[in-house]
Amino acid sequence: MKKDIDWSNLGFGYLKTDYRYVSNYKDGKWDEGTLSTDETVTLHESAGVLQYAQTCFEGMKAYRTVDGKVVCFRPDMNAKRMAETAEYLEMPAFPVDKFIEAVTKTVEANIDFVPPYGSGASLYLRPYMFGSNAVIGVKPATEFQFRIFATPVGPYFKGGVKPITLRVPDFDRAAPRGTGHIKAGLNYAMSLHAIADAHRQGYNENMYLDSQTRTKVEETGGANIIFVTKDNTVVTPKSSTILPSITRRSLMYVAEHYLGLKAEEREVYMSEVKEFKECALCGTAAVLSPVGKIVDHGEEIALPSGMNDMGEITKKLYDTLTGIQMGRIEAPEGWIKVINE
Ligand SMILES: *Cc1c(COP(=O)(O)O)cnc(C)c1O
Repeated sequence: MKKDIDWSNLGFGYLKTDYRYVSNYKDGKWDEGTLSTDETVTLHESAGVLQYAQTCFEGMKAYRTVDGKVVCFRPDMNAKRMAETAEYLEMPAFPVDKFIEAVTKTVEANIDFVPPYGSGASLYLRPYMFGSNAVIGVKPATEFQFRIFATPVGPYFKGGVKPITLRVPDFDRAAPRGTGHIKAGLNYAMSLHAIADAHRQGYNENMYLDSQTRTKVEETGGANIIFVTKDNTVVTPKSSTILPSITRRSLMYVAEHYLGLKAEEREVYMSEVKEFKECALCGTAAVLSPVGKIVDHGEEIALPSGMNDMGEITKKLYDTLTGIQMGRIEAPEGWIKVINE
C-alpha cells in the first residue's frame, strides 16, 4: 500500500495512479489492449468526441475487504450498461468479458492504491470510450478509444454521511427528448450549469423532475433517489429517463431479501414527497447519502430524519450494502468479483 496517502482524509478527486488501460477500435475491431503509464490523451482536432460529444463512461469501485482481498462490485453490470449506452450513441460495444479483464488488469496494476479496509476510501474506476478519428459532417466516428483509469477516493459529499439539502431546479438534468437513461458526458454537460447554480445558492444538489410534466421525481445530477414511507416501504422512482443505477438495483434487492422490507419502483409525485420519512441519494460515488431537506421553490420539506443523522432504514440499507461490498456480510451469488486474494 502507498504509505504517503492520507487515506482517511481523501475527498472525491483525481489522484494520479501508476497505470491505465487503453484499447483502440479501428477497421471494425478492438485491438489487444495494453496498460500505459501515460495519463494524457492526444487527439485529432476534429475528433468525434470534441465536435459532437461522442463519448460515454462508467463508474465503479474496487474495495479492500475485511479479510484483505481486493474485490469489485458487480462489474458485469457496468460492462452491460456501457454496451447499451455505446449502442445508443452509435459506438461499438466493448465486449463484457474484455471489459472485466480490463478492469481486473487496471486494479491489479494499481493494487497499492486500493485504500485499506476501514479507511472509508476505495479505488474508483472510470471506464470510458470516445470517438477518436476526424469527423466534420454530422456522423458517428469510425475509430474509438476505450480507457480505464483508477483513482483512490473518499466520500462524494463533503462531511461524509451527513444529510444534504436538495433543491428542485427549473432545469432539466438531461436532453428533454430522452437521453436521460444513458451514462454519457452529454447529460453531464447539460447539468453543469444547474449544479453550479445550486451550489451558488447553498444547495448540495438538484432534485430534477420529469421534463414533460415537471410533477414527478426523477433523480439528481449523478445519483438516483430512494425514499422510505412511514410504514418502512422503500420506494424509488420509475422512469425511462433516469440512469438505471446499479447501486439502486442492489439496494432494492437488499431491502427485500436481507431486511425483509417492501421495495417498490413506481412513479413518485413531487406532491407526495412531504409524506416520506426518509430520503437518500444512491450511486457508486454517493453510496447512500441521506437527504435532510428538499427545497421546492420556497417550499421547504424537512425530512423527519433531520439534518444530523441518517434515517433508521437508510442506515440499515447502508450498513448491509457496504457490509456486502467489504466482505462482512455474505453477498448474493455473482455480486463480488475477487481481483486479488
Ligand atoms: C452513474 C450514475 C448514477 C449511479 O449509478 P450507479 O450504477 O449506482 O453508480 C445515477 N445517476 C446518474 C445520472 C449517473 O450517471
